[in-house]
Amino acid sequence: MKRIDFYQLVDEAIKARENAYAPYSGFTVGAALLMADEKVYTGCNIENAAYSASMCAERVAFSKAVSDGYHNKGDFTAIAVVGAPKDKNPDTPCPPCGVCRQVMAEFSDPNNFLVIMTGEDGIPEVHSLAELLPMSFTL
Ligand SMILES: [Zn+2]
Repeated sequence: MKRIDFYQLVDEAIKARENAYAPYSGFTVGAALLMADEKVYTGCNIENAAYSASMCAERVAFSKAVSDGYHNKGDFTAIAVVGAPKDKNPDTPCPPCGVCRQVMAEFSDPNNFLVIMTGEDGIPEVHSLAELLPMSFTL
């Protein structure tokens, strides 16, 4: 990671979580995606009455980066994810779902992409994507 540290990225994810739209699950998530050029893309979960149309915070952040032209695996450095029931502080780390892990694998080098999660103690828990998604599907 460059000048932006894990705590800054977690703070961005906490801010993004405030915009979550989660009237069905009541579980709000924020994500902050750090690019190699230090730009940060944030996302929140966006639910829908037709459940399958819902989007996770992580994929919203990735969609914003990809739609801005970031397509190279070296562009994607790390993502912070913070989630908990609405109006509560996170008391456990919020790991990305399997679909989001697969999207991360599409656009990053799993050995060099970090997933940062925090719980009640506020100390970031950090894993490589390769740890979270071993033997990911690739062409
Ligand atoms: Zn997800």
